[in-house]
Formats: sequence, C-alpha cells, structure tokens
Amino acid sequence: MIHLAQRMSRLGTETAFEVLVKARVLEAQGKNIIHLQIGEPDFDTPMNIKVAAKKALDDGFTHYSPSAGLIQARTAIARHVSETRGIKVSPEQVVITPGGKPIMFFTILACVDEGEEVIYTNPGYPIYESAIEFVGAKAIALPLKEEKGFSFDLEDLKRLITKKTRMIILNSPQNPTGGILTESDLRGIAELVREHELIVLSDEIYSRIMYDGHKAVSIASLPGMQERTVILDGLSKTYAMTGWRVGYGVMPEDLAKLIAKLQVNVTSCTASFSQIATIEALTGPQKDVEEMVAEFKRRRDFIVAGLNAIPGIRCHKPLGAFYVFPNITGTGIKSGVLADRLLNEAGVACLSGTAFGRFGEGYLRFSYANSIPNIEKALDRIKQILKR
Ligand code: PLP
Repeated sequence: MIHLAQRMSRLGTETAFEVLVKARVLEAQGKNIIHLQIGEPDFDTPMNIKVAAKKALDDGFTHYSPSAGLIQARTAIARHVSETRGIKVSPEQVVITPGGKPIMFFTILACVDEGEEVIYTNPGYPIYESAIEFVGAKAIALPLKEEKGFSFDLEDLKRLITKKTRMIILNSPQNPTGGILTESDLRGIAELVREHELIVLSDEIYSRIMYDGHKAVSIASLPGMQERTVILDGLSKTYAMTGWRVGYGVMPEDLAKLIAKLQVNVTSCTASFSQIATIEALTGPQKDVEEMVAEFKRRRDFIVAGLNAIPGIRCHKPLGAFYVFPNITGTGIKSGVLADRLLNEAGVACLSGTAFGRFGEGYLRFSYANSIPNIEKALDRIKQILKR
C-alpha cells in the first residue's frame, strides 16, 4: 500500500459524481434511472460556438497559450464582465482556467494561510470546504435559512468573523438551493468585509440563469469592493459547455499574476481552441441562452408545484440556477436514506442535502436539467415510494 500524505485525509469530494457511478451500475443491470442528480444543462452547446471552435482548430489554435489566457479571450471576458457587473475590468485582471473550479483552489491557495479561517455558506458547493480544509485552513460554516429564501442572517455572519478570518465565499445564485443574495444582503456583507479587511470569493457561475425578472448583482460592484473581490465565472453552465473546460477569475492585477503562476504549476493553460470559442460565446448571439433559461423556468415551475403536492415535502421556489432543494422533514426519513431509496427502489437519482454540508440534513437536491416528461415520471415515482 502506498503511503499517503496526511493532507489527503482532509480532501473532500463532489457526491454528484459518485451517484452517477451508482446510477450507471443500476442502468447496466437493466434498471431505468431518471437522472436528477446532474449539475449540468442537458442542452447542446450552441452551434455558433462549435463552429468557432472547429475553425480555431483549423487555424492552428492547438498549442499552449499564455498561462493567464490568450489576450484576445481575456479582452473579451474583461469587456463582458465590465458590462454585466457595471465595473471596469482590464484584460490583465482576468485569468482563464480549465473550468471555473480551479479558481476556487487557486484563490484559496494564494490568499489563505494555514490556521486562518474562511467562512462559506452551508449547504454549499462541497469543493469550497474541501479546498479550505486541504490547505490547512479552517472552514467556518455559515448556515443558509430556508425561511429567508436560502439567504443567511447578517448577524450570523457577524458572529462568525474572528481575528483569523481571511475570506468569505459567496455563491449567488446558489448551488444547491437556487437561492440568491439580494443587493441589500450584499451591502451588509460588503460593510463587514471592508471593516475587517477580508477577501471575497464571489462564485457567480449561475449569474445568467435567473428567473422572474431578477438580475444578478456582483458584490464587486459595491464601493471599495472590486479590489477585495475575486469573481469566479465561466461558460460551463450558461452555454452548456461543461466539457469544454472554460472558466475564469476576475481579480486585482497583482493577484491575477500569482493565480497565473499557480496555473503554470498545475495545468500550464486552458485549451487554446476552447478560449477562441469563448470569444464567440460571449460576443455572438445569445438567443440559445435565453431559450435555455426560459425552458429551465418552465421546468422549475413544474417541479416545484409537483413536489409541493407530495405529502411530507415542502419546496421553496428558487430564483436562480437549475436546482430545487425541497424540505423532506415531513416524511420522517433522513436525507441520505431517502436519496438512496429513491435511487435503488424508484430509479430516481438525486442528491442528499448532506452532500452539501451538515446544514443540508432534511433536504434533497434535484436538478431540473431534464425534460418535463422525465420530471413528471420522477415525481410520480417519488409519490409512490413515499406512499409505501
Ligand atoms: N461553482 C459552482 C457553484 C458550481 O455548482 C460548479 C459546478 O457544478 C462550479 C463552480 C464549477 O464549474 P466548472 O465546471 O466550470 O468548473
């Protein structure tokens, strides 16, 4: 047995990938599984982006790029972020990474020392906690409240800030709850961040997938905040491009140089043709994105109504992303047990709320990146299981 480093015991994971493996095993045995565990759009990447990538291959974008990214792609991203966030971003403040995920690890590695504390929302995307603990820092869970639309109490945040706090991680719209932070929430947070001289990692990867007229506000746009914020965004969710691996961070220029240096050490760069395709994604027609969001909204309304009609389940209507996070405490069954039963007995793959941290007990996460007929079938199966 190979001797393993101590730090490996602190590395977490993303259960979605494990559930997918279990579901595939059941499918190989001939079982029919409805996949509501997935964290990616079920749509195809828009054609104009694929055409741009094919042309990029023919044009020779098949080699290394500078570590921070191709200047033309960084320029397109800087312009896009300036317009969507109402801030002034230069290409030098942009680092392009293979997916948005590396920005989490790189930012924490670059900014947080061992023994320092990072506050993150819980339930939340599991990689935050994993990365914080892995670098030897302490992950401090800030509980999200269902009754606040899965936002949090500013008083809770205030209480959790200590002399050791270095960073706060925000995610709006949020995975797994679909909750959003309002501008007034952000103002309160920004005040604390300035007062305690903290850094914000603002995960805005779902910022283009919002409903009912809500528009994303970035904390970076508030006074004095751009120099304290790393915006994480990417193409995976907005353009159904999870396999292309394009994400980016927007941050102060000095930090961008260091994040690029981490990238030299880890991946060298993001695939060059994916970067060229990024320019087309951000500057080309946006009709496909609008249609995808409209379809997600239809599915959201359908699944929320369906879940609320099942005795024992109460489902809050999310304002963004493509997940619902129903409260299942009325069933009297623990989240992990119910998620397993739904997969094994009903053929419905979903995630236990606890896959997103301890405050996720009492909830399940369903992704509605699946068709309405499949969602309808899944709802029926859930109803049958709970009747038993
Ligand atoms: N941030 C959040 C909140 C996510 O849910 C995900 C993916 O599920 C990511 C970041 C990572 O996205 P990418 O595939 O671009 O690395």
